[in-house]
Amino acid sequence: MSHTTAFIGLGAMGWHMASHLPKLGHEVWVWNRTPSKADHHSVTFQTQSVGIEKAVQADFIFSCLPTSADIEQLIAMHPPKPGSIWIDCTSGVPQSAQILSQGLKKIGVEYLDAPVSGQTIGAEKGTLTVMIGGDVDAFEKAKPIIAAFSGLIEYVGDSGSGFAVKAINNTLMATHLWALAEGLTVLKSKGVDLSAALNCINHSSGKSSISENIMAQRVLNRSFDKTFALDLLQKDIGIAVDLIQEQSLNLPGMHLIQQQFAFFEKESARQLDFSAAVQGLEKINQIELR
Ligand code: NDP
Repeated sequence: MSHTTAFIGLGAMGWHMASHLPKLGHEVWVWNRTPSKADHHSVTFQTQSVGIEKAVQADFIFSCLPTSADIEQLIAMHPPKPGSIWIDCTSGVPQSAQILSQGLKKIGVEYLDAPVSGQTIGAEKGTLTVMIGGDVDAFEKAKPIIAAFSGLIEYVGDSGSGFAVKAINNTLMATHLWALAEGLTVLKSKGVDLSAALNCINHSSGKSSISENIMAQRVLNRSFDKTFALDLLQKDIGIAVDLIQEQSLNLPGMHLIQQQFAFFEKESARQLDFSAAVQGLEKINQIELR
């Protein structure tokens, strides 16, 4: 049966994610706060640039904005139509997902928290990992559409569970980055060649996707190419730490990581790639990882 799909938020991730939807053969509407981006998207990918009033009339509405607060504000101003399913790919706050899900249910709308992982390259290739919380029937209905931009779709539990998994995943990523940067700082101080050291680590038990990709591609070559803003990673670590506090758990490592990643204030962090977090460590130790 034919249906309409809308995508709200054509940023670093949303731009690519929305580009895969037309291949399913249904009408795809796109909306962006800066309208010229949506116009450009429609010319490039055979989507239709629409106003927000029309976007929220779609049967399936995807969103990918920076924070849950942005989504809450948007939905409050532009409620979706009854019978629709809202699939929120923002890396958001679990409690916000629960509140939105309950509120939207009252007007006949299902809300799924469906954050993604795989960076902009995964969005471009359509191989993202999508972790989903919310109503199971709504999940089953949305799954074939989500498949357009994903390599793995995993239902992880009730409303908010997807956001929780995402926050923990990104805090682990931050931990890998920080631990590797500390390790390489020791090695540099001992005069070891960092590229050679990284090659050894990548063929040993200490490797991670950060050691295999980000460290050589962005840090050692000093490019710090921006695809994922540092302030967004700070937000994700904050969500994970809030979860720890909500659950009254004693998990000091994540608090420590949050402190390390707070070296750059939010405003400057917004301009930086997340990999630039290691520059805090470099400044303190007066050792550059290159
Ligand atoms: P960007 O900053 O590149 O894009 C943000 C998008 O949201 C833009 O389209 C922007 O519009 C829009 N926007 C911002 N604020 C508002 C608002 N108040 N109302 C309406 N629209 C708004 O972010 P990303 O695409 O990098 O990230 C989006 C989400 O995906 C975040 O939650 C992030 O944590 C997550 N994520 C990011 C990854 C990455 O590698 N970049 C990987 C996985 C998840 P405008 O064009 O007008 O500025």
